[in-house]
Amino acid sequence: MIRTGNQYREGIQDGREVWIDGERVKDVASHPAFKPIVDVKARMYDLAHEPAHQEALTYEEGGERNSVFQQPPTTQEHWHRKWASIDLLMKDIGGVATRLGDETVGEMWSLQDGRDLLAQIDPRFAANIDNHIRRVKDLDLFHVSANTDPKGDRSRPVEERDPDMMIRVVKETDAGIVVRGAKFETASAYADQAYLKPTVGAWTNEKESIHAVGCIVKMGTPGVKHICRMPFATRGRPEDSPLASRFDEVEALMVLDDVLIPWEDVFFYRHTVAAQQVRATLHRYSAFPYVLRVLFTADMMIGAAMWNARQTGLEKLQAVQEKLAELVCYREGIRAHLVASIALAEKSPAGLLMPNQSILYAGRVLACSQLPVMMHAARELIGGQICVTPDVAQFQGGAGSWLEKFYTLNKEWDAEDRRKLLAFARDLLNSDYAGHRLAFVQFAQAPHFNHLAAVYKSFDFEGPLDFVRNSAGLSDRILGKTESTH
Ligand SMILES: Cc1cc2nc3c(=O)[nH]c(=O)nc-3n(C[C@H](O)[C@H](O)[C@H](O)COP(=O)(O)OP(=O)(O)OC[C@H]3O[C@@H](n4cnc5c(N)ncnc54)[C@H](O)[C@@H]3O)c2cc1C
Repeated sequence: MIRTGNQYREGIQDGREVWIDGERVKDVASHPAFKPIVDVKARMYDLAHEPAHQEALTYEEGGERNSVFQQPPTTQEHWHRKWASIDLLMKDIGGVATRLGDETVGEMWSLQDGRDLLAQIDPRFAANIDNHIRRVKDLDLFHVSANTDPKGDRSRPVEERDPDMMIRVVKETDAGIVVRGAKFETASAYADQAYLKPTVGAWTNEKESIHAVGCIVKMGTPGVKHICRMPFATRGRPEDSPLASRFDEVEALMVLDDVLIPWEDVFFYRHTVAAQQVRATLHRYSAFPYVLRVLFTADMMIGAAMWNARQTGLEKLQAVQEKLAELVCYREGIRAHLVASIALAEKSPAGLLMPNQSILYAGRVLACSQLPVMMHAARELIGGQICVTPDVAQFQGGAGSWLEKFYTLNKEWDAEDRRKLLAFARDLLNSDYAGHRLAFVQFAQAPHFNHLAAVYKSFDFEGPLDFVRNSAGLSDRILGKTESTH
């Protein structure tokens, strides 16, 4: 079933406890800090109902139309459709938003790949993951991700830390488990639910077992508090922040103050082996839409740099063309990894089709680790005017005629288009929001060292080892095998 935007808005009016700028939010959907991004998510729902887009954004199953964003992938075609749907959505909203559910729902498909392990803990838990994957699809829920605890001072032994620094199970009841702690989370304040799971770590110490819990948290449950960071959308005029005013994906510290999680929402608890399995496979599917978002960010950088070169006449300089080509190589490198990961996709243990893991994870490292370099290249290409240009109030105020004079380039490019491009480029590359988005890409799907660990574990080292054994004439006694998580 596909929901409408208004059904989504009504769904988050559930009495949830959201705090922003030191105040309790009465209605998330209409609050100025959240309204723009809630509208983006609502648009994502509404688009699927429009006759012109329904065929592209939905599929039929059991007489119902479902969203392609929620569809567990079993064919290459499914992946191409997901890509095309994101393309349609980003063009429609005119920007990049990442945490819209399609990029986090795949974490549950990874858990389903480990359902045998869940069944060993408790057969009900294996059924729970199947049910939740179905439920997200059937109810078209906005499902996000909760991994990162505050953690506290990690130099101290687990038993000496404040136990609340990592989510823990405090009680087991007939109705479910009671959990306590906190997680950092994008979109928690305006999503329906999250898959809460153990944070990045080795999970080899049994003393950490109380923290090894995986479950669904519904955002309006009593005891769940969303304490949001400072918003960007409400700062200044939209004309000066054309991206931040529309696409601020608000993060929160989601506090769980003794929250009851019903048994049907529990996937595992007190189980470090399950935590290891989750951490080893978590982004198996969700890395794809995450990396795909960076492709759109690259397009925004190329577009901004190229329009600037055209406005200023610098496009004809070979040195400028070379810098633009550097941006294009980055963009095409990301695209090549995504295309190849579908072309060489692999069957998962649960029978889904996962993008080629080694290629996808290598693409994630390229996309995320090179973004700071590429943002700087784009910033340098566009020049210093992005940070010295006066705001729109100045263009419209008493000194506006001077700005009209100095920002008019030629007959084609008037001062208003020049101002708009520079405001866009500043917001994309040089603003507080731009820095935040960079941090998002670096961290929101685990930090860099974890991305490299995923590459290490998914790459099949046998090929290079054999190649060198033969080429160097190494002894046949050397038959060491490396671990692979294929
Ligand atoms: C904009 C934004 C959005 C986010 N959204 C979400 C979300 O939706 N859900 C969610 O769960 N989390 C989210 N996060 C949190 C994110 O997952 C964490 O920031 C990330 O996992 C790193 O954890 P940390 O910040 O506690 O850093 P720390 O664990 O304190 O690490 C800091 C740095 O120390 C180094 N380091 C730490 N441990 C190691 C190690 N073992 N090996 C090598 N180097 C190490 C690395 O350089 C690391 O980046 C978001 C973060 C940001 C910035």
